Amino acid sequence: MSQTILIIAEHRNGEVRQVTFEAITAAQIVDASSINVVAIGHKLETVVETLSNYELDTIFTIDDQSLSHYIPEAYAHALGEVLEECQPTGIICGHTAIGRDLAPMLAATLDAGLISDATSIECVEEHIVITRPIYAGKAFEKKIFHQSPWVLTIRPNNVSASTLKGNVAQVKNISFKKPPSLQSTIIDIVQKTTGKIDLAEAKIVIAGGRGVKSAEGFKPLEQLADVLNGAVGASRGACDANYCDYSLQIGQTGKVVTPDLYIACGISGAIQHVAGMSQSRIIVAINKDPDAPIFSIADYGIVGDLFEIVPLLTEEFRKVMK
Ligand code: FAD
Repeated sequence: MSQTILIIAEHRNGEVRQVTFEAITAAQIVDASSINVVAIGHKLETVVETLSNYELDTIFTIDDQSLSHYIPEAYAHALGEVLEECQPTGIICGHTAIGRDLAPMLAATLDAGLISDATSIECVEEHIVITRPIYAGKAFEKKIFHQSPWVLTIRPNNVSASTLKGNVAQVKNISFKKPPSLQSTIIDIVQKTTGKIDLAEAKIVIAGGRGVKSAEGFKPLEQLADVLNGAVGASRGACDANYCDYSLQIGQTGKVVTPDLYIACGISGAIQHVAGMSQSRIIVAINKDPDAPIFSIADYGIVGDLFEIVPLLTEEFRKVMK
């Protein structure tokens, strides 16, 4: 099966996001004969420098000040010329806010099939078999593409990131021809998250629920996250109660996370929350109610008061992380 893959690179402040390297692995899994990446934005020098270390065929860049921030129509329009030139048989994006938005537009443009939120990819005979969660993570389905081109979004943290460094790829700069009119423009971006680590890509997540009882109650969780180099997340219960910002919400209507370690503190384990974290590799639940549903999906359960247990964990981890 000869595949020409185009990966939509994601980057922030000049740094290529982890999911882009995971997409390179996905392209390797489908045995692509040509792997290409497109980076869109402004001042892409460091992005190109990083990508140049990987075994890619072409790095397409579309660099224009008006593309500094993600604008759906402008990005979809900008990609038109790259699609023409690259003629991909498959496109891979991260299942991120941007990828989830762009993928259906690209699929519609190419009249292509779209499979979203892949948690695993394998080649079985001549088919690319995609596994994805359904029913809020209660079950998984396997899907295949019957024809090319196809568009795929991959859930961050599920496929290992490519480390396959190789030849410096050729870089092609595509000039951005502005669309005649845009329905929307970005005037300002208000950064809500203060966390240093992106919640969706964090390897360790410390999440708080209504059991933290106040905004102040998140402090011990933040300290534990700092020691473990992790990110803080929350249940909707905690967000609704105004203990934290909605940008931290994990679940069906929040972010989907797949860290190596998820520590749920004072979270009951409602199905809508579980939908966003059940694929975490190791789940630790701290809850004072021994019958809390979260314990049924936890690998390790601690029955007790989070305000006693979390500081103890922080203290112990601080000793070993030194
Ligand atoms: P609670 O259910 O109130 O649980 C608090 C837990 O804290 C309890 O188990 C209690 O025993 C424990 N506790 C209390 N004090 C302590 C203590 N000192 N130490 C240890 N444990 C303690 N929810 C999400 O999280 N994400 C979503 O995306 C989401 N989407 C939704 C979409 C829809 C359409 C609907 C209807 C609901 C959605 N919800 C979502 C809400 C969900 O149903 C639950 O209401 C919510 O997850 C509950 O949050 P919680 O576990 O923090 O609170």
